[in-house]
Amino acid sequence: MSTVKVLVIGSGPAGYTAGIYAGRANLSPVIYEGNQPGGQLTQTTEIENFPGYPEGVGGMDMMDQLKSQAERFGAEVRSRNIESIDLSKRPFVAIDDHGEEVSAETVIISTGASAKYLGLDDEKKYQGMGVSACAVCDGFFYRKKVVAVVGGGDTACEEALYLSSLCKKVYLIVRKPFLRASEVMKKRVVDTPNIEILFECNVRGLFGDGVVEGAHVVRAAGTPEEDHFDIEIDGFFLGIGHNPNTAFLNGQIALDEAGYIITEGATSHTSIEGVFAAGDVADPRYRQAIVAAGSGAKAALDAERFLSDHSEL
Ligand code: FAD
Repeated sequence: MSTVKVLVIGSGPAGYTAGIYAGRANLSPVIYEGNQPGGQLTQTTEIENFPGYPEGVGGMDMMDQLKSQAERFGAEVRSRNIESIDLSKRPFVAIDDHGEEVSAETVIISTGASAKYLGLDDEKKYQGMGVSACAVCDGFFYRKKVVAVVGGGDTACEEALYLSSLCKKVYLIVRKPFLRASEVMKKRVVDTPNIEILFECNVRGLFGDGVVEGAHVVRAAGTPEEDHFDIEIDGFFLGIGHNPNTAFLNGQIALDEAGYIITEGATSHTSIEGVFAAGDVADPRYRQAIVAAGSGAKAALDAERFLSDHSEL
């Protein structure tokens, strides 16, 4: 088994950008695409905030272009998922979903983070047609409209506040009779006149002719006060958190309490020498394509430096 110099796990903006940089540094990177080739952006029709596309760009188109750019500089893209990896010694050895091993001198982990959904069939039915898990990405499409955000923690409050500056009205749908968010965040939400908080409420379904036009809500479910009602909305935003895709690492790398990979300061270094992290998997804060791409560049530069500092590799 030959050893690759740079193994990139994940094919979102972070992974492909790492591939472009490592390729141009003559490191012949190998990129494992995983089960979602092109990453999260392939789920969206229009990206308006990635620099360089003044008219916007389709998610699929942009990711195809990033892939071609990485391949142009010698990146090899493999349509496989990494199931496990042994990071206890170098070279690191990963096993893919065909049971084949790949050995690597450095590893860049760019496996992203998946938004949590409520699990309603309607979330899938209206995905991209009114359902979103990213206010910063999609809020602009709902200017002067009415939207709902689900969740009671900091993420949901942040989404609601962001949307309140664009939308006519924001419902914040909270399962509990209180907000779990920090005191500062709570106060900001409560003080914002166009946010209406619906406490003790759950969404049972969405309705609309092709696009979201409303939500079926139940208040105080299972109690004598149980009350069913509908709200009219144009957009339905999830604010209940993300799951960073780190299970395959099997606890070998330091993660924060939410499961995101911890990187050192402004670098992409992880708790294991020679292993770098980029994109949403190490970014609980921004989760934007341009930020992921930038961190992919950093990870490739860090890997390149590591390899030159360890010239015996
Ligand atoms: P991801 O894009 O999440 O890619 C992760 C990659 O890792 C995937 O290719 C997956 O297959 C792979 N992977 C996972 N596990 C494994 C494994 N074990 N082995 C191999 N591969 C693996 N951001 C914006 O800036 N603008 C927008 O307009 C915008 N719109 C969005 C719309 C939607 C619907 C969504 C969901 C997100 C949107 N975002 C937007 C956010 C943006 O998509 C993410 O910030 C960005 O894609 C993160 O890039 P990433 O490279 O870190 O990971």
